[in-house]
Amino acid sequence: MTKNLILLGLPGAGKGTQAEKIVADYPMVHISTGDIFRANLRDKTALGEKARAFMDAGNLVPDEITNAMVADRLTQPDVVKNGFMLDGYPRNEEQAKFLDQFLAEHEEAVSATLYFKVSDDVLVQRLLGRGRADDTKDVIAHRLEVNKKANLPLVDYYEKHNVLHTIDGEGDLDTIYSNVKTVLDGLN
Ligand code: AMP
Repeated sequence: MTKNLILLGLPGAGKGTQAEKIVADYPMVHISTGDIFRANLRDKTALGEKARAFMDAGNLVPDEITNAMVADRLTQPDVVKNGFMLDGYPRNEEQAKFLDQFLAEHEEAVSATLYFKVSDDVLVQRLLGRGRADDTKDVIAHRLEVNKKANLPLVDYYEKHNVLHTIDGEGDLDTIYSNVKTVLDGLN
């Protein structure tokens, strides 16, 4: 089954974990914008240097930079052939609109958006437990707020476009994944 998926949920909602399970069973290419940015930081590329200050402060990288990076990735042959599963993008409505327009130009569309719903308390506990270098308590709190403001309108956006599927993200991993599979296997 080749589809174009979007994973939605605040940082710590478990998108990455579910993404790993999905790619083991389905052909879609997992594209994490956070991972791409981190790889560019590590390799000290021009893109990484542009993104660094925003990422260090826990802010979103400007849309212009992020959209161009995503557009470039989506035109690569593995994605064209197998479809995609976007993780961490779009993060705001402008990015969502850019993506829709980009896909329309390529005679494609978003097949489904999986929204992993998790309470704030659980999110903070999970992020603190992850121990990434940018996961200090202050940065986490700030990142949650920034992401909430930008991210929650996306839930409305995709609901209006009739592609939203809400998944309870607080259960055990296998139960969550079995709910994900039910959604994916039900897509036309
Ligand atoms: P993540 O691993 O998804 O939390 O991403 C880590 C950091 O990369 C974020 O805090 C942002 O600075 C940047 N980033 C990742 N995805 C996006 C996006 N869609 N738009 C803007 N910035 C992003």
